[in-house]
Formats: sequence, C-alpha cells, structure tokens
Amino acid sequence: MDYKSLIINKSALKRIFYIYIPLAAAIYFLLLGAAWLTDKPPSPPLALEQSFDGKLPIVYDENYNMGFFCLENLHHFDTAKYRKIHDALVAAQAVKPEQFIPAAIPDRKMLEIAQTPEYLDSLSSSVTLARIIEVNVLKFFPSHLSNNLILQPMLYQTGGSLLAARAALKSGWAINLGGGFHHAARDKGEGFCALADISLIVKYLRQEKLAQKIMIVDFDAHQGNGFGRDFTGDSDVFIVDAYNKDVYPKDSDAKRGIDVAVELDAFTGDTEYLQKLRKGLDRAFAEFTPDFIIYNAGTDILAGDPLGALDISPKGVAARDELVFGKALDAKIPVVMLLSGGYQKTNAQVISDSILNLKDKFKIF
Ligand SMILES: [Zn+2]
Repeated sequence: MDYKSLIINKSALKRIFYIYIPLAAAIYFLLLGAAWLTDKPPSPPLALEQSFDGKLPIVYDENYNMGFFCLENLHHFDTAKYRKIHDALVAAQAVKPEQFIPAAIPDRKMLEIAQTPEYLDSLSSSVTLARIIEVNVLKFFPSHLSNNLILQPMLYQTGGSLLAARAALKSGWAINLGGGFHHAARDKGEGFCALADISLIVKYLRQEKLAQKIMIVDFDAHQGNGFGRDFTGDSDVFIVDAYNKDVYPKDSDAKRGIDVAVELDAFTGDTEYLQKLRKGLDRAFAEFTPDFIIYNAGTDILAGDPLGALDISPKGVAARDELVFGKALDAKIPVVMLLSGGYQKTNAQVISDSILNLKDKFKIF
C-alpha cells in the first residue's frame, strides 16, 4: 500500500484552515446579514373587498421589485421592470402615485385555493426557488434570504393579481403591473413562476361566485402550461394561447387544455402575428361567451428577446393589447391584464406606452 498518498500535504491543510474555512464563514455571515437587511415590514392584510375609491384600476406595489443585488447580472430578468412602468406612467402624468392600488400578500388559506399545501411548503427551500427561477447559486442562500429576495415579490404580485381581478369587476378593466405566472400549476412551479396567480384568480372568482365562465387569453411568447394543466377538461375555462412553438415549455400534456392554440414559428413578425391573433380571438368568442377575461400580456414577444424568439415591434405590442381590450370592452366583459414575461431592459417603456395607448384609444381613464 502506498502510505504516502494518505499523508495530507501540510500546506494544503494550512490553506483549508487559514483560507477556505474563514472565507466560507465570512460568506455565510454576509448572507445572514443580507437576509436581515432585506427584511421588510409585514404585509398588510389583502383587502379584496375594498371600494377602490380614489384609485385607478392599476395595481402596483414597490414590493414587486426584486432585490437581486448583483445577482441580477446572472439572470435575464429586469428586476426593476415594475418600478420603471410605474415611474413612466407617473412621468406621463397619466396616473398620480396615490391613484395606484397598492398590493398585499394573500394569506396561506387563499393560496391553498389554487396550490397544494405540500407544494407551498416546498417554497420555503432555497433549492426549490433556485430551480424555479433558474439561478443556480441561489440554492446556497439561507432560506430567509431567498424568501425575502424572490418569494416575497412574487407573493405581492399574486395579491396584486387578485386585487386587479376585483377592480376589473368594478371598472370593466384592470391592470396588474406584475403577475402572470403562467408556468406555475397547482403542484409545481417552473420557468420563473412559483405561484399560480392565474389559476388562483379563476378559482377565487368561482369560489366567491363572482364569475363562472372564464376565458384565459395568453399572448406571452411561451405556452401557458401551468393553467393549461390546471384546467384541462374544465368546460367553464376557455383557453386561447398564442405562443412560439419552437421554445420552452413544449408541454404536450398541457396542450390538451388549450381550446384555441395559435402556434407561431420562431421570429414571426407583426403582420402575421396580429392576423393570427385576431383570427384566434374571433374563433374563441364565437365558441365561448365568458363572464370574465384574464389577459396574460407577456412582452417577451418583442424582437430581440432571448427567450421569446419572436420578432414583434413595440407598435405590434400596443396593437395586440388594443385588440384584446377592444374585444373585451366591446362585449362589456371585465378584463384583467397581467404583465407576465418580458426579459429586456426596454420592456418597461414598451408596456407603459401600450397602457397609454389603451388610455387614448378607449378613454378608459
Ligand atoms: Zn414568456
């Protein structure tokens, strides 16, 4: 036996004791400190039955924005997208800061309307969140820190989606400047979506008998496989989904839940895109009369988006949003718009311009 191989090199031992262990301890305490620094005051209760007096049906909360620190460089997502849209609407003097409806976190009982207790429990683990948002290094974070940085903003946005749904029932339309987590299903999260806010709106509205027949119009670049799975075979939920067929998630099981599928080739441009969407919507409204519409308005359809891989211009985005709002407002069916995907730094401006276009075209505020 070669005993020499069992003798630990003295200098390697020194390196472990004097460099690696202190470094690991320093990083660990730094992360614990960061967890403490990112603590926010507890959320107020989610007041879904409020009057919304003095507000416009646009929901936004500062807590939507994700404090990634330098980690945002590791991810496609513009973590301040929501704040930028808010700021652009204020700068355009379209909305006063006090006119936005602030969001709050739904309680556990509310979340369990749409997702299983086992799955919701799993979200307290950094490993689960790291997988969902596809940032591997996050799995080494203390769970308290990943909760503060990732889960809390998603919880606020989910509360915002519910509030916007309530506001839409009152005003005929509403926009949540966040939400649209269409890859999350009752027992699973993926593709940057931990909480199934779309399924939650559907189930909440039905539970409260506020709506029964619901149409989900998903025009994000990706197939909405979360609610697709949740509502397969449910004749009171009608799903219209337009997506790039060549990119994630290519979920054939969830496709069984789609009523009108508009499958797009990679790099489809404005003219073909809008033509296909119009045709798909006409077919949907001919087949189904909803009493509520959820519009998932992802802007990862924009040209240059690394994940959406379509070729739509900012004008194309505005025309698309106008198309959906036109259909809903003409038919007097309440519509709630959620922002969903969109991974470029320019998205915020495109979204605020599109909201201003809706204001001009339909005089809704
Ligand atoms: Zn997407």
